[in-house]
Amino acid sequence: MVAGLAFWQLWLTWRLTEQDNNLAVQHRKERLEQAADLGMAQLSASLGTWDLILRGMDALPPPDVAQLPAGSTIILIGLGSRVSTWPARSLLFVPNAPSGVILPEHSFADSESLEFRDGNTEGALAALKPLLQVPATHAEALLRIARLERRLGKTAAANLAWRQLSDEHTVNPDGVPYALMAAGALCEIAPSTCPDLRDALRSGRWPLRRETFEYYWGGQELPPKDALDLAELVSELYEHWKQPGSALSGRRGSGDQPLVLWQATRSRIAALFVPAGWLNTALRLPGNALDILWRPADSATNPAVRRSLAEVGLQGRIEFYGGARGEDPSSKRALWLGIVALMLSIVPAGAYALYRGVNRELEVAQLQSDFVSAVSHEFRSPLTSLRGIAELLADGRLTDEGRKAQSYQFLARETGRLQRLVEDLLDFGRMESGKKQYRNELIDAFALVRKTITEFREEARQAGFDLELNLGAGKPSVIADPEALGRAFRNLLENAVKYSLEHRTIRVAGKVEGRSVAISVRDQGMGIEAGEQREVFRKFVRGSAAKRAGIKGTGIGLAMVKQIVDASGGEVSLESEPGVGSVFTITLPVTEGGRE
Ligand code: ADP
Repeated sequence: MVAGLAFWQLWLTWRLTEQDNNLAVQHRKERLEQAADLGMAQLSASLGTWDLILRGMDALPPPDVAQLPAGSTIILIGLGSRVSTWPARSLLFVPNAPSGVILPEHSFADSESLEFRDGNTEGALAALKPLLQVPATHAEALLRIARLERRLGKTAAANLAWRQLSDEHTVNPDGVPYALMAAGALCEIAPSTCPDLRDALRSGRWPLRRETFEYYWGGQELPPKDALDLAELVSELYEHWKQPGSALSGRRGSGDQPLVLWQATRSRIAALFVPAGWLNTALRLPGNALDILWRPADSATNPAVRRSLAEVGLQGRIEFYGGARGEDPSSKRALWLGIVALMLSIVPAGAYALYRGVNRELEVAQLQSDFVSAVSHEFRSPLTSLRGIAELLADGRLTDEGRKAQSYQFLARETGRLQRLVEDLLDFGRMESGKKQYRNELIDAFALVRKTITEFREEARQAGFDLELNLGAGKPSVIADPEALGRAFRNLLENAVKYSLEHRTIRVAGKVEGRSVAISVRDQGMGIEAGEQREVFRKFVRGSAAKRAGIKGTGIGLAMVKQIVDASGGEVSLESEPGVGSVFTITLPVTEGGRE
């Protein structure tokens, strides 16, 4: 059922996150739509502002020029007047180049008949000279003189005439400036002047017709593209304006192409030219949509939201994308599922912990009740025999002196044992509550072992045990409470006797190893099962072999040994095999300088 519930929970979470994702996708799309609408509205407003500026413009620069996008060029063409641009840019050619002068009729007839009919070049030259004085014919006369001089081989004179002509501002009857003709002729006879001609053409020094420009520019090198595009745009706008019935305002361009806006009246046409990239100025998204991006649309991608630039009278489309605000729905889902899985795993883990806790409590309760009955037994049986013997002695029923002495010895031994038991219990109580005060001092560990053995030997002998002592040389000094540590040794010795049934030899060994001393008590008794070897050091815990054999005990001895050894910074270890025997080893740190 738990598995079913868990599965249901997971499924529910999955469904919820799925729904959440769908909502997020929808929300994102709505944001994109909203941003696209706002962006397009802003674009329309920008274009509208620029239109207004153009509409109200009669001179350059317009007063509100700061509102125009950076890099833009304004073009103003008036009726019959020159084309002007702001910022000033050179125009390679113009649509309304000034028309040429009209020469007074027949003024050049004389010189022409001398030159062409009579072949009299000198005469023709002479006939031209007076015409230099007349302003209306001055430039044309100078041009013809230069040509004739050149034909006559008078290069210096011809050059001089062309140079004079270079300063002319008039335009010949075909619409070509005399100065340009002079520069062209000079370039022909002196090629070093050709770059000057190119520079003049590039800088738009004269308002030229397109054909004139192309003729003098020549075919070898292409004119600069920007300048050519601008000149072409200007011509196109002019043609459009001049066309009867054409629209008075318009827009042209797309997201990745330059933008052209124009506003015309009868007397002038004003236009704005913004190079590609103009959208960046015109389309700005509000501050809360900075995570949303846009780009001129190309058909390859499939974005969520697109807008046609036809909305604002232009070509192409814009797509809006992004706007995820750094949230990755799949990671969110993983997070949710993780949380649910964690919660689901906490339940069995909690149940297990509870089960363990309750079990342990029960175990402790059982151990405690075992302890109480063991303690009462430990007291009751010696007390019964003590009482019996005491009564015998008191009643004077024991007359044999030998048996009397034996009884007194028994009384002394058992009361001693009871006293030790009571002390052990009291001491253990103090240790448990942390109130035990250890009287630590520097002692010779081997001497303490020897003393304990001497005190215990008689008791062991009476129980039929041999004690073998094998201590290494030296007097390893340890810091410990001699009384407590002695009791710990004694406890190990008592256990060795208590839990050995057949083999009655107990070997005590001591040796110094590096910076510590190890004292071991080895018996050949019943041993302790591997699974219990750690547990027997816990209070009240008794081994199963001991309980099976009906050997009484309280289960606090080893716990006390461990406490005492821990208090001296040492440790107690156990090696044991059921049916073979046990070795308990106390290892204590040897105090610096105390080793010999
Ligand atoms: P007690 O001897 O009062 O039961 P201890 O704390 O001294 O308590 O010992 C705990 C248990 O460890 C004993 O009940 C016994 O099962 C086991 N034990 C201790 N010493 C030995 C030993 N030398 N040989 C076998 N078992 C031992």
